[in-house]
Amino acid sequence: MKDHSPILPGATIGFLGGGQLGRMTAFAARSMGYDIAVMDPDPDCPAGPMASRLITAPYADADAAAELARGCDVVTLEIEQIPLATLEAAAALAPLRPGVDVVHMIQDRGRQKSWLHSHGFPVGPHRIVESEEDCVDAVRTMGASIIKSCFGGYDGRGQARVSDHVEAAEGWHTVGAARCVVEGFLDIADELSILVARQSDGSCSVFPPARNHHVNGVLAWSVTPTGLDAAVERDARALGRAVAEASGIEGLLAVEIFLLHDGRLLVNELAPRPHNTFHATERACATSQFEQLVRTICNLPFGDTTILDPTAIANMLGDLWTSGTPEFTEALSVAGVRLHLYGKKSARPGRKMGHLSGVGADYAHALVRTLDAYDALGGAPADRRSMEPHAASARIRP
Ligand code: ATP
Ligand code: MG
Repeated sequence: MKDHSPILPGATIGFLGGGQLGRMTAFAARSMGYDIAVMDPDPDCPAGPMASRLITAPYADADAAAELARGCDVVTLEIEQIPLATLEAAAALAPLRPGVDVVHMIQDRGRQKSWLHSHGFPVGPHRIVESEEDCVDAVRTMGASIIKSCFGGYDGRGQARVSDHVEAAEGWHTVGAARCVVEGFLDIADELSILVARQSDGSCSVFPPARNHHVNGVLAWSVTPTGLDAAVERDARALGRAVAEASGIEGLLAVEIFLLHDGRLLVNELAPRPHNTFHATERACATSQFEQLVRTICNLPFGDTTILDPTAIANMLGDLWTSGTPEFTEALSVAGVRLHLYGKKSARPGRKMGHLSGVGADYAHALVRTLDAYDALGGAPADRRSMEPHAASARIRP
């Protein structure tokens, strides 16, 4: 029998993973009166200062996960790359939300794709390959492709883009994984994402969609509301909700979606946790994604997800620190803009250090303010190419 009784403030929430997603969730949990325990391999992890108890251990350490869970009323996670034995060790001692099975399905890109396909959800052409020969053959069939490692990739890492089968062998070796998914390169008009909160009793709450712009496979900025046609948003929300329901997740499920030029919606990938494309909910919505995760795993009523203020965010990567500290003062002089830093001690290129958020009268206003502030930081200027949606349907306003 599942336990749907509320886990009330005063209880302790455990986190497998103490990165920025854990940190921001911990802020929300702390402000609601929960205590925090964290397990992370890095003693300087961003969520460390939020925790009463910090266990420094690699994710493969199942005993450390058991130690974490022993002192917690519920355990959640902010990273899906956690070995099964570790998830099971935590789940044996405290409710683990999201569940073990859904994380296991998502953490292998190939298993995830097969699950989506077999459940009838729309995905692009792909093939799971386990050798250079298979990989070359798959690219010969599909043409321009992206080779993605089944395990461990994020922010476009563990991937290689190849234009034909001649480049495929080199791509296979660049990725350097034993198992990959080869995906045909898609004609994407716009990218959007859906975030669903689902509780153990099956009830769901869906956030308004976010529209996202990536540069070199890494999220550059995101905006809510999307500016897309209402019918596109409705279909995307229904798709995201259906995926969450089929997955049986208890927690947050982010569903990354591609809108193609021909109008089709395809699922790119899933994440069983808060998502970078919903950081704007801290300011856009009556309830942030972080608070919603706390409410969801504690069996409390869902928070209202109504949009209060159109909001954009722009990611700040370590590259901005190459010639010293970014010009925060300049950025913060832009009206409506706030700074969010994750407390990371070293700024490596490509590392997510923080983000800017900006509110405005509508999505375009919020985005202009946020990107103006980003440019004021003094790094390479923001990529403004997708500020207006590309999809033809998005331009047909009722
Ligand atoms: P993240 O951790 O940021 O979600 P990731 O490393 O898991 O990223 P993906 O989500 O697979 O990587 O891809 C990152 C981005 O690369 C996508 O958002 C999209 O912009 C582009 N991309 C991925 N797959 C394809 C594809 N099949 N065709 C065209 N572009 C793609
Ligand atoms: Mg992605």
